Amino acid sequence: MADEDSTRRGIGVSPGSAYGPVVLVAPPVRAPEGESAAADPEQALTEVKAAFESVARDLEERAGRVEDTAAEILMATALIARDKSLLKAAGKHLREGEGPATAIEAAVSEFVVQFEALGGYFAERVADLRDVGARAVAAVLGVPAPGVPDLDEPSIIVAEDLAPAETAVLDRALVLAIVTSGGGRTSHTAILAAQRGIPAVVQCDRALELVAGAHVAVDGDMGTVTLEPSEAFVADLTARRERRASALSGSTGPGRTNDGHAVALLANIGDVEDAVAAAAQDVEGVGLFRTEFVFLSATSAPTVEEQAEVYRRVLTPFGDRRVVVRTLDAGADKPLAFADLGPEENPALGRRGLRLSAARPELLDTQLEALAVATKDTGADVRVMAPMVATAEEADWFARRVREHGLPKAGVMIEVPAAALRSRHVLADMDFASIGTNDLSQYALAADRMQGELSDLLDPWQPAVLDLIAAACDGGARTGTPIGVCGEAAGDLLLALVLVGLGVSSLSMAPSKVAMVRLALSLHSLPGCQRIAASVREARTAADARQVATELADGGLRDLL
Ligand code: PEP
Ligand code: MG
Repeated sequence: MADEDSTRRGIGVSPGSAYGPVVLVAPPVRAPEGESAAADPEQALTEVKAAFESVARDLEERAGRVEDTAAEILMATALIARDKSLLKAAGKHLREGEGPATAIEAAVSEFVVQFEALGGYFAERVADLRDVGARAVAAVLGVPAPGVPDLDEPSIIVAEDLAPAETAVLDRALVLAIVTSGGGRTSHTAILAAQRGIPAVVQCDRALELVAGAHVAVDGDMGTVTLEPSEAFVADLTARRERRASALSGSTGPGRTNDGHAVALLANIGDVEDAVAAAAQDVEGVGLFRTEFVFLSATSAPTVEEQAEVYRRVLTPFGDRRVVVRTLDAGADKPLAFADLGPEENPALGRRGLRLSAARPELLDTQLEALAVATKDTGADVRVMAPMVATAEEADWFARRVREHGLPKAGVMIEVPAAALRSRHVLADMDFASIGTNDLSQYALAADRMQGELSDLLDPWQPAVLDLIAAACDGGARTGTPIGVCGEAAGDLLLALVLVGLGVSSLSMAPSKVAMVRLALSLHSLPGCQRIAASVREARTAADARQVATELADGGLRDLL
């Protein structure tokens, strides 16, 4: 066993374990404040040119080592670094008396404004332009480039936090695990890591004090990082990984308890690539397609045909398996440029989700029309649900619009406490519902889900959240509406048992979590899950609730935890 001092604790957000060397991600470098003017602007321009050139060469070299799409992105970014007008603009700033790093930042800012004004393809390159700028600033200052460095061997990435775009392009073969000091259990980095099957620990205590090259063991289930673990410790971790792998090899097919009660096990997806990957796995369909993820970088509203093409490509791989599509959940932590209603004091409590659809009904209608076209073209089992529903009127308004477009099934997310408490009314005219435990925790505990330091409050084991879930399920039982869960709680092995005990009939999660949840269900009966749920609801604290569930769970499952 490792001693306390060598163990760093955080929150495990993506299951699995790994052992390997630490690679630290350098934070973005800014030009020093008040950087002095270049003594010789022409000489400084030569240095800035060399900095851009080294960025371009570095990107090209990386492109040579990755596959198709990632390579194309890197080559296109290298072209930006070689852009003559960017260099010219930096030269102008140098002659006006700015220092080299400041001149690069100023030139990049001007181009950002121009690219944004051009819109379309150019506006989508703004993030790449900023990346080139940050790399060139680092090069001219002679410090390491920002972002995830090139990996020569399988490594453990340690960062303050990672941008979703960075997480999305990490090479799975070289990234053994991710450890961050920031982030939270429902941050999009956590969601993407789980989606890609990379073990991850966020909110890790003193993570940034880890030393590059040191060997650590990461446990994405327990949320621990162990420094320079002993051979015996690594052997234990490996043995547990193997025990799990062997237990999982027999866990296939539809989800059910050991007395035959069916619980559909579904995947959460965010784009076409996720859909193709999830469809190849043993899942019963999709319980949450976050459509806003597809359009995060779009600067103008996607047309019916553009959307229909995306939806066809998402639906086709699933054949006749169900696909629950959530209409745009824009706003707050997921702003969309084309669906922006202007600044708000409290975006999480503002016009987001379905409220934005009410303010811009043409966006909802375009999306429903595109979904209807894609459903007809593919013959898929499509079910459409609305995010952020608070009242029965909102639910009815949405269901009417869905049906007017000829779409067969309308549902709502239950992620606002009001909807959970009044679910028998909210669900009266709905075909299904899905509980979003990420936002339900945020709103029940009045704790911003983006604020990692509030993780204890954002814990879905909080008794108040469990009471709201129970209330939602009671309402669903009265109206005969099937209720699922698609927040991160669905992929927590023990909590999944509690949710089933409370009456949930489907669980949707990152595909990498499905096999373990299937196994957990197969070790328990429905009455067993109900007993665990009843005992857990007596707990006074989140920690007690988790402890009670651990004690009551089957010993076979505890061995795998
Ligand atoms: C949720 O809130 O639990 C949910 C599933 O939706 P999102 O995380 O996309 O807000
Ligand atoms: Mg939500």
